[in-house]
Amino acid sequence: MTYNYKELGLSNTREMFEKANKEHYAVPAFNFNNMEQMLAIIEACAETGSPVILQCSMGALKYMTKEVVPLLAKAGVDRARAMGSDIPVALHLDHGPNLEAVKEVIDCGFSSVMIDGSHYDFEKNIEVTKAVVEYAHNYDVTVEAELGVLAGIEDDVEAEHHIYTDPEEVIEFVEKTGVDSLAIAIGTSHGAHKFKPGSNPKLELSILAKVEDKLPGFPIVLHGSSAVPAEYVEKIKKYGGELKDAIGIPDSELQGAAKSGVAKINVDTDGRLAFTAGVREVFATKPAEFDPRKYLGVAKEEMKKYYILKIKNVFGSENAYTAAKK
Ligand SMILES: [Zn+2]
Repeated sequence: MTYNYKELGLSNTREMFEKANKEHYAVPAFNFNNMEQMLAIIEACAETGSPVILQCSMGALKYMTKEVVPLLAKAGVDRARAMGSDIPVALHLDHGPNLEAVKEVIDCGFSSVMIDGSHYDFEKNIEVTKAVVEYAHNYDVTVEAELGVLAGIEDDVEAEHHIYTDPEEVIEFVEKTGVDSLAIAIGTSHGAHKFKPGSNPKLELSILAKVEDKLPGFPIVLHGSSAVPAEYVEKIKKYGGELKDAIGIPDSELQGAAKSGVAKINVDTDGRLAFTAGVREVFATKPAEFDPRKYLGVAKEEMKKYYILKIKNVFGSENAYTAAKK
């Protein structure tokens, strides 16, 4: 089955980002892996009136299958409308590896894609990105690219060290590729083990300022921006999980970025941690429980609570659209 995203009720990110930059907030891009996570994301955003990007990696697409993902995203839109909210919902490919993958997900009803050519040299990144932009724009699908390299590991994406984005390269890259948004490397990183405990994670906000200076009003994207909340790390360990001590990006570092030209901030790890903490707590405290709704339901509510907090405290995207009536 193939779909056009418009028949699923989805939106691309163009107007979402325009409004976000005009009104100085960032659109949350939350990764999802199953129905519970999709519902947690959609309900959190519908209740707060925040636009939302349902983000799906190639790994998540393989896990949920091509048949399920488009209809799960459509169900998310329908759920938001049933709750009385008019928030726009995008279905976005996270870290698209090549044009073949992009073609595949556009046929699946994705409204937005990332092409990650950040591991190539500058010229090759331009070439790969440009080809994706030319293809995707035929379907009115928006494209995100990346310049610079984020450290860390997540799904199939792995890098040992940061390579900060060079602000001198951004204008040429955007002009030559025609890309709709740009992920930059300013010190955020992928995964749960971003920084060692005791360190003081700082973003290179001066690079962000230079990029914004070169590309006024252009939508900038931050990957790897989970906070790795200590309460989840502790709960997971308390109930038998094994997790090295780790810390993420403090909310205070992201708040300034959200108010600036940063139009999209990705959060994946925190959803995983909230989910795992919720499930582990039920298994540890109610060992007789074997109804999946009783532990997956707890995990869903834990994620939803976290997303709402993040929307209010970091993204600033609350009430950008009509919030669901409670
Ligand atoms: Zn990423």
